[in-house]
Amino acid sequence: MTLWEARSLPDCLFCKIVEGTIPARKVFEDESVVAFHDIQPQAPVHLLVIPKKHIATMNDCEADDSALLGHTLLVAQRIAKEAGLAESGYRLVNNCGSDAGQVVFHLHWHILGGEKLAALNP
Ligand code: IMP
Repeated sequence: MTLWEARSLPDCLFCKIVEGTIPARKVFEDESVVAFHDIQPQAPVHLLVIPKKHIATMNDCEADDSALLGHTLLVAQRIAKEAGLAESGYRLVNNCGSDAGQVVFHLHWHILGGEKLAALNP
């Protein structure tokens, strides 16, 4: 049993995407990370990057997760480049908890780009 199988949560939507029981338009997969298109894109390019291990939020990360977190961010950088966003730029967003608007409680980063995004502090 791999680490992510040991930590997968039966009722978690993104764990089901990891397992392949819910389909997703995957753009990247390795032994610890998956990236796929967001089902309701908020920008011309809207991808999600997730660790396979079930971690509910950023608040639930522990010291042992540091290599996994670093790898997940480097995968985000790689697929943003592959999506053609490296020069124009992109936004990498993690919503942590309900006030931030997190609705899927499996750690993920949004990669948003392909147009001029609204400023966070206009
Ligand atoms: P959150 O608000 O940061 O939790 O973002 C969750 C994201 O997951 C939203 O942008 C949703 O559109 C996206 N989402 C929900 N269900 C699916 C799915 O089945 N496939 C791909 N993306 C999904």
